[in-house]
This record gives sequence, C-alpha cells and structure tokens, in this order.
Amino acid sequence: MAKAKREATEKIKLVDVIIELVDARIPESSRNPVISEIIGQKPTILVLNKADLADSQATQAWLNYYKSQGQRAVAIDAQHNKGIRGLQQEIQDVMQPYFQKQQEKGIKERPIRLMILGIPNSGKSTLINRFVGKNQAQTGNKPGVTKAQRWLKIGKSFELLDTPGILWPKFEDPEVGKKLAVTGAIKDSLLHMDDLALYLLEHLKANEAETLKNRYRLSEADLENLSTVDLLLKITQQMGLRDDYDQASERIIHDFRSHRLGSATLDTPYEAL
Ligand code: GDP
Repeated sequence: MAKAKREATEKIKLVDVIIELVDARIPESSRNPVISEIIGQKPTILVLNKADLADSQATQAWLNYYKSQGQRAVAIDAQHNKGIRGLQQEIQDVMQPYFQKQQEKGIKERPIRLMILGIPNSGKSTLINRFVGKNQAQTGNKPGVTKAQRWLKIGKSFELLDTPGILWPKFEDPEVGKKLAVTGAIKDSLLHMDDLALYLLEHLKANEAETLKNRYRLSEADLENLSTVDLLLKITQQMGLRDDYDQASERIIHDFRSHRLGSATLDTPYEAL
C-alpha cells in the first residue's frame, strides 16, 4: 500500500490531468480512501467505468451527485468503447483555461499528459487500449495485471502514461468488502462464497426480482416467503446441486459478474438515501 501510494504520487507529478477510474456499480466503494491526499490539486476526472453493468438511473444519480460537489465526472463502458469521446472532451475542457493563458503568452498548445489511476480490475488496461486504439496494453480479469512504462500518443492532443497508478481499495467495512468481492475487485479467496451469494441475493431480491426469478426458476411465493438463506438452498436444488450451496454460491456470483442477473448498482446514490 505504501509503495503503491509512493509510486502513484511520483507519476502524478508527470501529468496534467488524472483519470480516476472507478466501477460504476460501486463508485464509492471502489475509490481508495487516500486518493484525495495523493491527487492534491491536480485536475481529476472521475470516470465511472463498466456503466454497461450498472443501473443506468443510479449512474445518472451518481454523476449528478459528483457534479453537485464540483467534481467532474463521466460514465463510460471501456469494454465496448462507449463514452470515450465524451471523456476526451471533458479532459480538453479541464485544460482549456490553462491553454488559453499559454496562448496569450504566445506559447503553443502541447499534448495533454494523462494518467489513469484506480483500484485493480476497475478497467485501467481496457481503457488504455481504447484510448490507443490497438492492443498495446495487457488486460485480464485478475487484479494487478498491468506492468511496464512509457508514454502512449493519442492523436495530437494527448499523451498517456501506459502504466496506470494502482491503489488498493479499502475494506475495513465488511459491506464494502463484499461489494468489492462480488464485482471482482478483490480475490474471491478473501471472503466466503456463501456470504457473498447471500449478500447478492438480498440485493437482487429488492432490485432485480424478475431477473432472479427467471434465471433460477423461482416462484413469486419463493421470493415473498423464503428467507435469503432458504432462497439460496432453493436455488441450490434448482441447480441440481442437492445441498452443495458453496458451489451454487459460486455460480450465482459468476452469473452476476457475467451480467446474467441484470444491471446492478450496489452503492446507493447519496441523493436516494
Ligand atoms: P485493470 O486491472 O484495472 O487494468 O482492469 P482490466 O482492464 O484488466 O479489466 C478488468 C476486467 O474488467 C476485464 O475482464 C475487462 O474486460 C473488464 N472490463 C473493463 N472495462 C469494462 C467495461 O466497461 N464493461 C465491462 N462489462 N467490462 C469491463
């Protein structure tokens, strides 16, 4: 953690604008608590990635909230190349006053230097690939795959540090830990699968009841009458797994991660609380 923080702080000195990448399903839980200390006064754009997996109304509510706090924020889906132009525009808007002043002094505009900062699995490598337009950065569905360092040119307007800053998420709060685990930000082995599945089922019952019912062939009465633990047992049976609810839990989590259980935002937007 201390090393990651030091490295990120060093990189920040090299750039004009920071792209702080979070997971749109958990925009707050996927932020690092020390990030504001590290960023200081450097212009930052908060980017809610994986918007395709999140509830679109909740994403909009989060964007409104951040903007009301004076924080520039955009939502993107780096995987499917959506929102990247909007992000680039936002970066140019941030730098506009600076370039205006430079121009007045007769200094020519230069490429804007950028870096991406975020917790593991937030989509840093994927976004780098999108920016560059070819497969230069390595990606993988595992925390901490990104390595090596150089500047990548993005057209005439931008230069991007090819190694993102990696910060670790906070998970002293067990609920935050569960959110990070179900979205794949921290290793599964850190938490019990059945705890995670129960947490997910609780959320899905309240927000995605239809999808849940259809996916696991449950009845209206199951959802209304069964406790969450009994619901997990019922789903285990429906899957033909008898009483192997660990295996069923794994499947439920896998289904959630692969978007078979609908779009879900696990951090409730502040304005909705
Ligand atoms: P990093 O550890 O922050 O560099 O994260 P990666 O770029 O390796 O991405 C982690 C996983 O999330 C990979 O499986 C990506 O394909 C996936 N991913 C990244 N961005 C998106 C997105 O916008 N939508 C979806 N559905 N998946 C994404």
